[in-house]
Amino acid sequence: MTDASPAVGSGLSTAEIIAVGSELLTPFRIDTNSLFLTARLNDVGIVVRRKSIVGDSPTDLATAIGEALARVDMLVVCGGLGPTDDDLTRETVAEVLGLPLREDPRILEWLSGRFSARGWTMPENNRRQAQVPDGAVVLENPRGTAPGLWIEAAGRIVVLLPGPPRELEPMFAELAAGRLAARSSTKRLYRRVLRVAGRGESHVEELTQPVYEPWQRARHVIETTILASPGAVELHLSTRVDTASAAQTVLDGATAELAAVLGEHLVSTDGRTLADVVGTLLLQHGYRVAIGESCTGGLVTAALVDSPGSSKYLDQGIVAYSNDAKRTALGVEAAVLAEHGAVSEPVAEAMAAGARRAVGADVGVGVTGIAGPGGGTADKPVGTVCFAVVAPEGRRIVRTVLLPGDRAMIRQMATRTALDLLRRALERPPRHASVRSE
Ligand code: ATP
Ligand code: MG
Repeated sequence: MTDASPAVGSGLSTAEIIAVGSELLTPFRIDTNSLFLTARLNDVGIVVRRKSIVGDSPTDLATAIGEALARVDMLVVCGGLGPTDDDLTRETVAEVLGLPLREDPRILEWLSGRFSARGWTMPENNRRQAQVPDGAVVLENPRGTAPGLWIEAAGRIVVLLPGPPRELEPMFAELAAGRLAARSSTKRLYRRVLRVAGRGESHVEELTQPVYEPWQRARHVIETTILASPGAVELHLSTRVDTASAAQTVLDGATAELAAVLGEHLVSTDGRTLADVVGTLLLQHGYRVAIGESCTGGLVTAALVDSPGSSKYLDQGIVAYSNDAKRTALGVEAAVLAEHGAVSEPVAEAMAAGARRAVGADVGVGVTGIAGPGGGTADKPVGTVCFAVVAPEGRRIVRTVLLPGDRAMIRQMATRTALDLLRRALERPPRHASVRSE
């Protein structure tokens, strides 16, 4: 079989990745190659169906290869191409595919040249790296000793790549641009990310599942994945189609359907983060914002600062942790603190008003809560957080929320909630603003 062999028709669409190395099965090394490979395979329209990690065991590797070849068009195996006894990928793949190994004199010459250029003699071990399964194409490795191999057999493509990322990445990039691009179909994988706030993962799924479930059977299949982190949910849509404009039509339609059920919980459909969206809204209104925060300890301000260009709309963040600080830095009245307690809606509102007043900003945000693990009461358990947003034209939200989780999670969710309430306040039409507690 040669380079131009038509054994595998044009239109590779599915792949599996096997990462080889016993060190990848310890707590000390992580397989990152498969993330890189998945991104590059997706770029040429190939979907990764499964990934596995196997130790340096020829039996386990042979089983994994056999199983993968029954499922997909293309298999990428990385690692285990080195010269040492535990590097068995080359031999195992040849055996599973029933291909004899022969020594490639050009690799041998190149390898011994690498050593002699440094004044060394090539160790006999390295000779194994010149072994090539019959019909394989050799992929040069200018950064290491292990050449890669491209093998077409049994109607499948098997690619062997060296384990070190600095060797694998350029080798695969070259392959993706050349040999692989020629074999992949004209279809490409297009993605869109929808960001959602104010609803948990299961709630988002409940709302959206009836919408996306039929897409599995549509003419242009759309895959939907839900990714959740504390206080934020992302919906990733992907479709494999021929052109960017076809993708846009398909994904625009899908996005509109999801937007209809997500309503005001939908934050963005163009990759912008919650903080980015808040920034855009502040700019559109021509408002500047000031934050007074207690339990979040500066996280709300930091999240706003994460967006480039935030100096155009962020005035200041004041972390006022103690009652004294709430009085002196934010002007919260002692009587309000005494009557309602530091974690209360009136104090959150006074903090928002104080932060705004202190610098003459248009919009103020106040956050005060109990992050735990101590300090909770029957009335105000750990996780109780009070928020206030005060903005011009009667845009005002005051709200108490009970957040789950440990201290870190409560603080992270409180940060997202503060930004989300700020977003909602700014998205509301003037005068329709309301005060709501729950
Ligand atoms: P070499 O000639 O360098 O021995 P090799 O193909 O035998 O090449 P391995 O011995 O399997 O490669 O791996 C070498 C190093 O590459 C590992 O110690 C590890 O640091 C890194 N590596 C291997 N596989 C992966 C992976 N899947 N993800 C990230 N790093 C990896
Ligand atoms: Mg090795």
